[in-house]
Amino acid sequence: MNQYNPLQKYYRQPKLYISLPSKGLYYAQGGLTGDWSNVPVFAMTGMDEIIYKTPDALYSGEATKQVIESCIPYIKDGFAVPSIDIDALVLAIRIATFGENLNVDKICEHCEAENTYEIPLTRILDYFNAQKYDNILPINDEITVKIRPLTYFELNHYSIENFKLQKKMAQLEQVSEEERQKIVDEIYKNLSDLQVDLFLTSIESVRIPDSEITDKAIIHDWLINSDRELFAQVKTKLEQNRDVWNVPSQNVQCGSCQQHSKVEITLDQSIFFG
Ligand SMILES: [Zn+2]
Repeated sequence: MNQYNPLQKYYRQPKLYISLPSKGLYYAQGGLTGDWSNVPVFAMTGMDEIIYKTPDALYSGEATKQVIESCIPYIKDGFAVPSIDIDALVLAIRIATFGENLNVDKICEHCEAENTYEIPLTRILDYFNAQKYDNILPINDEITVKIRPLTYFELNHYSIENFKLQKKMAQLEQVSEEERQKIVDEIYKNLSDLQVDLFLTSIESVRIPDSEITDKAIIHDWLINSDRELFAQVKTKLEQNRDVWNVPSQNVQCGSCQQHSKVEITLDQSIFFG
């Protein structure tokens, strides 16, 4: 493979260059090589497309990880990418592979006409680039919490664990009355453990007047020995960030009645590429 390949000059070339919404922050050392404001993006190969059609690889996040590494060589480990960059990267790969527009079908809620809207995906990339991840959460006069976005690996881990618990909850119908309460208690316990774990992962440090604490065990003890307001504050902050980093709904105008409405774009990869 070290030999010169005469076909090399015909290899795929970058199709577009993007900026990363994270501005290159929150990457581990060596996780991003090159300039975050000028990242080359290649189209998917045939291999990439096959991975994207493998249900197990989609569920585990492995498909997205591999395709990002294949199409965006600046990124060395797809699982270590901060989650706030994931949608932008997937959009850029979609644009590089299939072009700039995404067709979305929608029945008009006013006149019931069927419309197909062409949504320019660069508009959504621009949206992400205009956002800033707010990582400072003041708790009171003395305490400030510093948070960070989850990595793609962590994001997947928490969604899968959460999904499993929700599924367990949905299956309770089949369980006898006396067993049910036991299982419900257990699920709630697991959900709350998962939440504390998510908080601990998201919290980088806690600053108090004379020091900055990064030790997770110390932060854990503080979290579970605080009033519920602290929990609510952290939760709200994480949710606010999550909302900002969701794909915004798009304004469209019905071709029949000319009324305006909104369409949601889901970046669920299986639908996106399917
Ligand atoms: Zn209409």
